[in-house]
Amino acid sequence: MTMDHASTLRAGRHAGIDYDGVPAHLTAIEPGDVGYAHVRSTYLRGGSPGLVLRPGTPAEVADALAFARAQPVKLSLRSGGHGISGRSTNHGGIVLDVSRLNAIEVLDERTRRVRLGPGARWSDVARALAPYGWALSSGDYGGVGVGGLATAGGIGWLVREHGLTIDHLRAVDMVLAEGSRVRASDDENAELFWAVRGAGANFGIVTAFEFEAYEVGEVGFARFVVDATDTAGFLGRWGAAIEAAPRDVTGSLVIGRPRPGQPVIAQVMTVVDAGDAETVLSRLQPIAAAAPLLDHDIRITPYAAIMHVPPGAHDGHGEPVARSALADHLTPELAEAAARLIMSGESYFFQIRAVGGAASDIAPDATAYAGRSANFQLVAMGSSRARLDPAWDAMRRHFSGIYINFETDLRPGRLHDAFPEDTLRRLRALKRRHDPDNVFRDNFNITP
Ligand SMILES: Cc1cc2nc3c(=O)[nH]c(=O)nc-3n(C[C@H](O)[C@H](O)[C@H](O)COP(=O)(O)OP(=O)(O)OC[C@H]3O[C@@H](n4cnc5c(N)ncnc54)[C@H](O)[C@@H]3O)c2cc1C
Repeated sequence: MTMDHASTLRAGRHAGIDYDGVPAHLTAIEPGDVGYAHVRSTYLRGGSPGLVLRPGTPAEVADALAFARAQPVKLSLRSGGHGISGRSTNHGGIVLDVSRLNAIEVLDERTRRVRLGPGARWSDVARALAPYGWALSSGDYGGVGVGGLATAGGIGWLVREHGLTIDHLRAVDMVLAEGSRVRASDDENAELFWAVRGAGANFGIVTAFEFEAYEVGEVGFARFVVDATDTAGFLGRWGAAIEAAPRDVTGSLVIGRPRPGQPVIAQVMTVVDAGDAETVLSRLQPIAAAAPLLDHDIRITPYAAIMHVPPGAHDGHGEPVARSALADHLTPELAEAAARLIMSGESYFFQIRAVGGAASDIAPDATAYAGRSANFQLVAMGSSRARLDPAWDAMRRHFSGIYINFETDLRPGRLHDAFPEDTLRRLRALKRRHDPDNVFRDNFNITP
């Protein structure tokens, strides 16, 4: 290292971090390092951490955690860097980035048992499972990491047929706050395994996930652009069509900020788990009837193709403002309220995803994710928290819960919205046992 480089490095150092004490075997990136620009921010959030640790093995994760815990600065945990509620970067603190743990292995072809590293992306998982004729429904965007999604829920393109991602999780390997490495499943540390499936980020660092994949062939994928000027009517009709559809149909819709003098435009995405055109088209008819169709694109394609995203570095800026909720039905009252929010212009991105189906077959207390009655998940992203919050809060009576991964509101009431009282009591007891110092608190913190 030249003197110039050494002094640039030191100039970017943050108070409170013992840089000279970082264990030599750990990969560490600090401000001024080549590569810092690629790891400081996440997909949606700008950051300027004082140090990013990138362990390459579970043992190194434990070492990195021990070092980080001894520093009096903020700690963030990162896998795929697509956190919304999960604040996987910070300013002046440490990021423990497990993205190098990204292996995807088939453990047993007979039982379709697969082992995924938290740093794997769901597009890579889809591509790796495709040759076996298998898939795991994850989310609608292949760039999202395994770690953040599979510790919270996973509302994906096949959710109505196959349930949430966590519903197919069979075991995890974790590093707990005090540094021990444990396995959790229905047979070992069962309470921890229950908690990981919905509130995992509060209890430790998952270093491997074992799933049971299922068979998925080609799927129908449709993108409709519709005139949603009758916004409430459209939302209600789309919701009814989704609820009435067989479980092989899952979909979502997105509405942006309306432009003055122009029709309200919605994008409607639908996946039909069927490889024949006749079934796909018949399933799409009732959805297409929800609003006047302006454009469409329908294809039959491998599941991995709809999950594909080109790789790219993250350079998020600022702090996302997102509110989220689960709803059992898109009632006329909820549709009217959502239409008012959309027309107010306070949300530049309003999305509803279908849930329900197989996700609702699981009992609410079987996993920490408790919102099993919901047929829909709603998200609104805005540019002003001060304006979006009151608008969203006013809609609260229409909601039945929260899927934590899209909610950025830090007020304590949200914890009660996400977790029913019995679930929260169980989670708090477990938090007191496994993380009494509240080391893990960057995603929907359950205080001990
Ligand atoms: C464009 C986009 C589309 C999305 N679409 C969907 C969707 O369709 N369905 C859906 O369900 N979700 C979706 N999400 C939300 C997504 O599930 C969360 O943002 C998730 O946290 C991202 O995981 P990550 O590993 O990429 O994120 P990161 O930013 O790396 O992590 C987020 C948080 O998860 C926790 N975490 C991460 N890794 C671990 C680990 N190894 N062990 C324990 N806790 C960990 C940490 O608290 C961290 O702050 C979407 C997000 C984006 C940005």
